[in-house]
Amino acid sequence: MLNQIKIVLCFTSHPGNIGAAARAMKTMGLSQLVLVSPKDFPSEEAMVRSSGALDILDNAKVVKTVEEAVEDCRLVIGTSSRNRTLPWPLIEPREMAQIIHEKPQSRPVAILFGRESVGLLNEELQLCNYHVNIPANPEYMSLNLASAVQIISYELRLKELMADSTQQQEIELKESELNATSEQVDGLYKHLEETMISTEFYDPDNPKLLSSRVRRLFAKSQLNQGEVNILRGFLSSIDKYIKRKTNV
Ligand code: SAH
Repeated sequence: MLNQIKIVLCFTSHPGNIGAAARAMKTMGLSQLVLVSPKDFPSEEAMVRSSGALDILDNAKVVKTVEEAVEDCRLVIGTSSRNRTLPWPLIEPREMAQIIHEKPQSRPVAILFGRESVGLLNEELQLCNYHVNIPANPEYMSLNLASAVQIISYELRLKELMADSTQQQEIELKESELNATSEQVDGLYKHLEETMISTEFYDPDNPKLLSSRVRRLFAKSQLNQGEVNILRGFLSSIDKYIKRKTNV
């Protein structure tokens, strides 16, 4: 399970935090680090703070956007120190580890960590199936980035160790049983939006909350690939119908 989990650090400012996060990951047996547009990387400070977890830094994948970081993932989890105005399924780290453990169809999984200054933006949080909050002191909720990575990684490790001791087997899954990837769900979402615009159900100049609500609906439903295909087929039939009618 641990090798199917990506730790994604988004727009990190301090290279020392990247190094410390790599160290936190390695101590817990995680190895896949993805960096979204880090301010300063590769960096000497990151290497020093990684305290020997250099393999994690060397193998880190650097990408430009969060979408790119998660495109092949079947479950996306966003960590957040605050409960924002955005209502979204919210879980604690232990529950997160349980979900990842019991749903092999949702792997690979991406766990997103935000900027030191402002965390993850609402657009980034909307790419997630769940939000995870470490239940810290309500008067002082914000952990250092690498400390948050440590706690999340520790919960994943605990779950992995418990699973080992009960000799759980990894189940072989058919392609059709896998959750759709983030890229496939995003494709469906964009298609639905275009069709909603053509039927005049949705006015992009006056979006209100519709866009966010529709994203949340897909985030919660965790569709598999076959289900995405059915919905896209239906949308294509509406598109063709509209085209036929407007050509008459
Ligand atoms: N000032 C920022 C906090 C950023 S801390 C804010 O208000 O959002 C940097 C990152 O560490 C966060 O984006 C999140 O990924 C993680 N983090 C810090 N504290 C956390 C907590 N209590 N629960 C979950 N993630 C946390």
